[in-house]
Amino acid sequence: MTQDRGQWLDDAHPETKAVRAGISRSAEGEHSEPIYTTSSYIFESAEDAAARFSGDSGAKGSNVYSRYTNPTVRSFAERLAALEGAEAAEATASGMAAIMSVCMAFLRAGDHVICSRDVFGSTLGLFEKYFVKFGIDVTFVPLRDISAWRQAIKPTTRLLYCETPSNPLCEVADIASLGSVARDAGARLVVDNCFCTPALQRPLEHGADMVIHSATKYLDGQGRVLGGAVVGTEADMSEVNAFLRTCGPTMSPFNAWVFLKGLETLSLRMRAHSENAQTLAQWLQAQPQVRKVNYSGLPSHPGHELACRQQSNFGGVLSFELDGGTAEAWQFINATELMSLTANLGDAKTTIVHPATTTHGRLSSEQRIDAGISDGLIRIAVGLEHIEDIQRDCERGFRSLTSTV
Ligand SMILES: *Cc1c(COP(=O)(O)O)cnc(C)c1O
Repeated sequence: MTQDRGQWLDDAHPETKAVRAGISRSAEGEHSEPIYTTSSYIFESAEDAAARFSGDSGAKGSNVYSRYTNPTVRSFAERLAALEGAEAAEATASGMAAIMSVCMAFLRAGDHVICSRDVFGSTLGLFEKYFVKFGIDVTFVPLRDISAWRQAIKPTTRLLYCETPSNPLCEVADIASLGSVARDAGARLVVDNCFCTPALQRPLEHGADMVIHSATKYLDGQGRVLGGAVVGTEADMSEVNAFLRTCGPTMSPFNAWVFLKGLETLSLRMRAHSENAQTLAQWLQAQPQVRKVNYSGLPSHPGHELACRQQSNFGGVLSFELDGGTAEAWQFINATELMSLTANLGDAKTTIVHPATTTHGRLSSEQRIDAGISDGLIRIAVGLEHIEDIQRDCERGFRSLTSTV
């Protein structure tokens, strides 16, 4: 196998790494990345088999079985690691498999985790329903309240876990401050970088120890396949890999190939998502039926300054509060025609959802009020359609409200 490798790649800009990093060409000399659909690999001799099994052949390409390693999956992981500015990455079957793998690799019974309150619903479920069964204690704290994170530290604290920006209020966590809280506690800071992607934010540069991805979202960017990744140091990723190869929530080579191709256009797409979202957020703010717009690109947003410091742009997700409750929000959503009514995000297609009755429907109404999810809140994950068409679709929603008054 030949590789596009060398100093020039290490020094290259992210856009270049997104296209060039992690390529291993076979003897066929193919230009595009091949998909290796094989479950196992043949050995050159009995001696070679023994060496590869003992793991001391060391060389790249010493594949044994695709639960352990696969060249297409490795290409994706190397490209993503290059984009995050990390030593290594491990690819997983989904974003949730990535989060589970980090916990399985670094936690044991009796350990303690501090987690931001408003993380992805299944992440909450993973901690509250499953890890508690194995004696792992979790404290949930408000994302932006650094003193709450500090106060939650126990001698057994091993991981600090957050998403920034958060869903659906776009709150921004101070990664550097959380990193120093983690370091003081001898714990690791894990940041779910799903909303920004490395095109807009590289948490390791700000003091995070590991980065999580739901590749399902913007890394693919076109809503085709599920996948996830963990990014960090060589040493930490070998712990994650040890769990993956033993327990098996690995990424399929086909999905890895889709993500490899997705990464090539990541920075272009994230720029376009951000531009559209910024325009829509400003336009929504000027609408009389809108009480409040949550988007960190707006100077009025409490996380704006922090976002300017640690992100290069503000991403594609925003939410806004209508004057009214669930009835008005549903009426607005039902009157739209272009936007897809789906809870997914990170797609070329704009999506719209009512968090209070879907993604956050499990919470009691007090918990929702506490978390800032009002009944009139609507989330839009702004896609790549022309902004005027997205606005026109929102106008249908607004008109439906005025016509019933
Ligand atoms: C979707 C999502 C996940 C879970 O990823 P899957 O690929 O669906 O398993 C985790 N974190 C965030 C922020 C997400 O949006």
